[in-house]
Amino acid sequence: MAQGGDKKYVLSIDQGTTSTRALLFDREGVPVHIAQKELPQIFPADGWVEHDGRQIWADTVELCREVLALAGGAETVAAIGITNQRETSLIWDRETGEPLYNAIVWQDRRTADLCTRLKEEGKEATVQEKTGLLLDPYFSGTKLAWLLDNVDGARARAEKGELCFGTIDCWLVYNLTGGTAHVTDATNASRTLLFNIDTQDWDDEILGWLDIPRSLLPEVKDCCADFGVTAPGLFGTSLPIAGIAGDQQAASVGQACFQPGMMKSTYGTGCFALVNTGQAHVHSQNRLLATVAYRLNGEVTYALEGSIFMAGATIQWLRDEMKFVSSAEESEALAKAADPESQVVVVPAFTGLGAPYWDPHARGAILGMTRDTGVAEIVRAALESVSCQTRDLMDAMGADMKGAGLTAPTELRVDGGMVANNWFAQNLSDLLGRPVVRPKVQETTALGAAYLAGMQVGFFGGLEEVAGQWQEEARFNASMDENERDARYGRWQTAVGRVLTS
Ligand code: ADP
Repeated sequence: MAQGGDKKYVLSIDQGTTSTRALLFDREGVPVHIAQKELPQIFPADGWVEHDGRQIWADTVELCREVLALAGGAETVAAIGITNQRETSLIWDRETGEPLYNAIVWQDRRTADLCTRLKEEGKEATVQEKTGLLLDPYFSGTKLAWLLDNVDGARARAEKGELCFGTIDCWLVYNLTGGTAHVTDATNASRTLLFNIDTQDWDDEILGWLDIPRSLLPEVKDCCADFGVTAPGLFGTSLPIAGIAGDQQAASVGQACFQPGMMKSTYGTGCFALVNTGQAHVHSQNRLLATVAYRLNGEVTYALEGSIFMAGATIQWLRDEMKFVSSAEESEALAKAADPESQVVVVPAFTGLGAPYWDPHARGAILGMTRDTGVAEIVRAALESVSCQTRDLMDAMGADMKGAGLTAPTELRVDGGMVANNWFAQNLSDLLGRPVVRPKVQETTALGAAYLAGMQVGFFGGLEEVAGQWQEEARFNASMDENERDARYGRWQTAVGRVLTS
């Protein structure tokens, strides 16, 4: 065993959209100490979402210090791993570390017009081919272009090499290292729209389209790498930053999806599904995203990704707007009590539909109601809408994988707040016709970052050891009659057809 042999923990920083967390994982991959702080959301205009970069940094230091104190100091820690909300974009002064503007959050839609213009110019096919992504405001590239065009003096200063651009991982490493490292990892780079996932380098053609100087961009490293060491004085002992991955990729590592065809899906506010496609960059025919799952020792493992905008958020809507439940948990008992013959379908297209439909103008609908439809039937249909959308994604992934000569996913590893609902987990398995598996450690995102950092310093042995640690907590096998499954999924597809606008 290399360094890290005598240490007790790996420190994982999980910088999410709504909160920042610091967790200490032990050698068994069990979270031992956790500290968390909510992150204020800033909404300066309709469709705009920002975060205060300084606040993110201040919270991160505070939370790391808090868990390190619980553990008896930084000497007990082998390394730091970072996982983060992806795509969120920040520029700052290379010398002073002062941000020039708030971080523009992934949800922010201010660059929709720019994306439309680029599409009209016929650039989407090239973007998809090179980056695996689609022209959507979601990704960092157009956010960075906006910053350069709209923040006073930013473009001139960027051209002189005075500024740094980074996603949140990069911002945290810059600060943790006292401003000495301007680095990111391949998974975060792969979400910027500026990174060619075949050559693993920033793409000059796309940079040219968006008028972005290369000097702004960080160096891109493997997910397990030497990203720098923490500045002396920050935590007492200097700690190596040894692992980074964007949140969904980290969750995929935490779920030990290391073989082609292994798939995970995280059910929080939204849902993000990733399937490992091995060394193949699969060019989706179904408008899924191709992305870097992880890069280790210079070798890229790719994934296909699809997302559902409204997963747990649909349950929040039942609770907050419809007042059908007083807590998310209540949805389970109601779904169980619903009339099993009910043909109600809820299409939660509140903000449009994501993959594989990508219709931003679609809106929600409840179909198939009869005189005896009640709250329970609608709650059941709302939960089932998340299962049906997962089926959409899994079918699209399977088709793309078969097209590339790969084996389609055969089961699904799940995590996130919603999978505590056993009725939902069973329904998901029934609609997919495949097993759904819930792991013992539900902190898969933070765990993935801890694994990456721990592997780099010898605290964890490697992918095989990590895969061996993964443990099943519950398995749900499909028990629904095939005819019923087809009928239910068919009704969903018909209902989606009714709300699509194009
Ligand atoms: P996020 O990380 O996006 O904040 P979490 O993973 O914490 O999300 O999950 C919270 C979401 O899960 C909420 O949207 C909530 O409605 C949903 N949720 C939590 N518990 C249940 C449950 N028992 N049944 C259905 N949905 C649930």
